[in-house]
Amino acid sequence: MATDRVKIPNQATYAPFALADVFILAPLASRLLLGATVPGRIVQALSLGAYAGSALSDWWARKEARPIDFEEAFGQDPANLESMSDEARQEEVKDLVAVMNRDYKPSKYSRKELAEIVNEQLTEYIASVTGQRVETSSEVRDMALSKVLFPFALGACDILSGDVTIFRDTGVFEPHIITHEFCHRKGYYKELQAQAIAYLALSTSDDPVLVQSALAERTHRDLKVLADSDFDRYHELVDEAGLREELAKDFHAIRPEPSAYENAVWTVMKPIMEERMKMTGQNGLSDYDVGFTDFLHKKG
Ligand SMILES: [Zn+2]
Repeated sequence: MATDRVKIPNQATYAPFALADVFILAPLASRLLLGATVPGRIVQALSLGAYAGSALSDWWARKEARPIDFEEAFGQDPANLESMSDEARQEEVKDLVAVMNRDYKPSKYSRKELAEIVNEQLTEYIASVTGQRVETSSEVRDMALSKVLFPFALGACDILSGDVTIFRDTGVFEPHIITHEFCHRKGYYKELQAQAIAYLALSTSDDPVLVQSALAERTHRDLKVLADSDFDRYHELVDEAGLREELAKDFHAIRPEPSAYENAVWTVMKPIMEERMKMTGQNGLSDYDVGFTDFLHKKG
């Protein structure tokens, strides 16, 4: 299969600040700092223009991309998956933990290096399925307004600009989280697809740091399903799983006790997010864990 190539410019991702934040905050900042609204409005108009221009040229370039067809490539429709039994899930956790404990490798990569490595791995993986390299930016931000709206999330991708923000350090999980957001940047907007493609790309890499991140994400999602999303039960299951110390630390840290603010935002946002996912042809928030692990289990 001959490999062709599509380049999505992602200009907005190279701006020093998230343009979406600039056009939201500029009038407010200007009023607070300068006591005037006019300079703020000018900055707002300029950033909005740059944002829209970037989104438009990405949309134009993306029209040439051929996305992976899940039914054709993997023989499964993500909207209609067979569910795993709890026993199968427990077995899977045992097997994954044994492999991760045996092959553990600490990561020496900075976030910037990691973003470049996983972006190339993802691009190559997608090309191995579709015959086409969809090239995108490897830029990642550490800070954006979306952190206030989604305090419980680990990362976010602005679908229009392709801006990706990673909210905090997650150790062994970080390669998978960045790759998941990069799947959105390459045009896979559905959560189950982003989870599955990120997993398949990393688990087929030659780099043990990438492989273990994929296995860790799969195990973490299995444990979350087995705990039925109960906070204390999840942490008990992590303790019972027999993970080596370095891994157990990250499995605990990825689900910290939510603050009062996070609980309040979650109560408001959860039904909105469920609804938004259903409106876009997804099953709901369960796609992140139940759907993702059911898909991989069936795929084998
Ligand atoms: Zn996502």
